Amino acid sequence: MQLIVQKFGGTSVADAARMKRAAKRAVEEYSAGSKIVVVVSAQGKMTDELLEMAYSINNKPSKRELDSLLSTGEQMSSALMAMAIHSLGVSAVSFTGRQIGITTDSFHTKARIVNINDSRILEELSKNKIVVVAGYQGVDENDNITTLGRGGSDTSAVALAALLKADMCDIYTDVDGIYTADPRTVSNARRLNKISYDEILELASMGAQVVHVRSIEFAKKFNVPIRVRPSFNNGTGTLICKEVGEMENIVVSGATVTKDDAKITIIGVADEPGQAANIFHELAKEKINVDMIIQNVSANGLADLTFTVQKDDLILALETTKRIKAEEIIADDKIAKLSVVGIGMRSHCGIAEKMFKTLSDEKINIQMISTSEIKISCVIEEKQAEKALNAVHNAFELDKEQ
Ligand code: ASP
Ligand code: MG
Repeated sequence: MQLIVQKFGGTSVADAARMKRAAKRAVEEYSAGSKIVVVVSAQGKMTDELLEMAYSINNKPSKRELDSLLSTGEQMSSALMAMAIHSLGVSAVSFTGRQIGITTDSFHTKARIVNINDSRILEELSKNKIVVVAGYQGVDENDNITTLGRGGSDTSAVALAALLKADMCDIYTDVDGIYTADPRTVSNARRLNKISYDEILELASMGAQVVHVRSIEFAKKFNVPIRVRPSFNNGTGTLICKEVGEMENIVVSGATVTKDDAKITIIGVADEPGQAANIFHELAKEKINVDMIIQNVSANGLADLTFTVQKDDLILALETTKRIKAEEIIADDKIAKLSVVGIGMRSHCGIAEKMFKTLSDEKINIQMISTSEIKISCVIEEKQAEKALNAVHNAFELDKEQ
């Protein structure tokens, strides 16, 4: 008998009608002969509203109490979902994270799951019930309620799917799958039928709008197939799974552009051992994450060093780099990072060349380049981001089934 974990996000259970529609999906698959575990998010914008309530009372709410408050959104959803299933004539039982022993560490508001006890769930499943679980929550070893970070219900669902060795973790959401590029920017973007864990992790910014990144890391580790599916129609969505042979033939699976980074150039630092170590040591001390780095040797024993940081970290990064002896430091936050990703890159060549040629044909200057085994990224001027994404999407013919 198949076991399926179905996760419904906030928009998919936002009101009574949608809750009932979600319940109907659970019941349909149950009636077709599967065991079903449903994981729910809080309804609609409930989590934001709870946060607002907290901050209207205290502008520095205790994180322990915040978790206690935030977890109620999912608790509410889970009870309502069980009732919606009952109204369709099927038995169901809802549980909070604590009731099924979801144990986490003690990092309130962004806790990590350390253990789940499957006995209660298995017992209820064996009584032919649909088990409904409140997502996003657990308890620490001292029985304090914790939450898993915004969007964390996906992680609850994948963790349960891993524990129960589910055949599938279906994540129902308000989009119909994962696309070759953001369809709001690229009008001929195409829905992917399948994508590997590694690709989606590299395309985090693209996937993150759809699935919680941490849940994909979890799914990869435990080899849980995830299907991102629309809750508003019967679309088959996108399967996220481990790499299979045929994927090697697809050279580029997706393209993305992000505007979250800023660039710092340090001009004229001494070109001698230890300089880079020193600079990045200072940045690391401030917990600043550096992404791309390039160094050019210039004249007179001096070098220029350019690197990117998150825009939010720019001011702190600038203050930190000022501690370094250099001729000049320049910052630029009007940049964008364009990336193409595909596991076929491991076995095909000429991908970088094609990307660079495409940008050059569009008269787009490349400021920095970085590569991984399955990704090529270029830093370009921010205002050319959309044009660049479309050009690359067309050049690699991502609109066509490969
Ligand atoms: N309700 C939580 C949030 O809005 C968790 C989730 O939706 O996954 O972030
Ligand atoms: Mg959500």
